[in-house]
Amino acid sequence: MQEIKDELKRVVAGAGVTMIEQGLTVGTWGNVSVRDSETGLIYISPSGIDYEDIRDEDIVVLNDKLEVVDGSATPSIEKRLHVAIYNAREDVNAVIHDHPLYSSVLGVNRMELPGISEDLVQIVGDKIICSEYALPGTPELAKNALKALGDRNAVLLPNHGTLCVGKDLKNVLRICHVVEKAAHIYILAKSIGTPHLLSEENIKAMQYFARHLYGQR
Ligand SMILES: [Zn+2]
Repeated sequence: MQEIKDELKRVVAGAGVTMIEQGLTVGTWGNVSVRDSETGLIYISPSGIDYEDIRDEDIVVLNDKLEVVDGSATPSIEKRLHVAIYNAREDVNAVIHDHPLYSSVLGVNRMELPGISEDLVQIVGDKIICSEYALPGTPELAKNALKALGDRNAVLLPNHGTLCVGKDLKNVLRICHVVEKAAHIYILAKSIGTPHLLSEENIKAMQYFARHLYGQR
């Protein structure tokens, strides 16, 4: 029997409240999970409970085969999406699916979000691709999202929202904000002119700097 960690349930419940307070989603939409790097177990938010009302014990613990290991609540409808990402990406230990405004506008138009800003290319990727459409909660949605995500840290889900991934929930909440801010900037920039995109060379240089040179040493 693998150890269940109350601390990780608290972290998932807390990130859900942060997500709603910061306007990244509305109502009960969206979902949050973390993977315990020691046991491999996945802690995911429950289905259809207001984020402010989610208690730590409502967080459901799954294994990598989607089997419930702990918890009596019904897990998020997007559990397949979360588990598929953990199974495909060893570097990812936290996932947030949100319904933010400006990123969703791009998804409705089935547009990509190009690499337009330093923060976006450094922590999310050279660009954010819009996946092919599939209904919420289906295996197709998980498959399409994973394919468009690749090795980047976010993907647009058309007519739906976004999905952001990273090493922990603090990092993923930051990614959610950076993607939404870049989508907002891109839409405004397009509305008054022609946005200039960063060159591939400069994107690579900024990614190298963020990975190897940035910060205190
Ligand atoms: Zn959704």
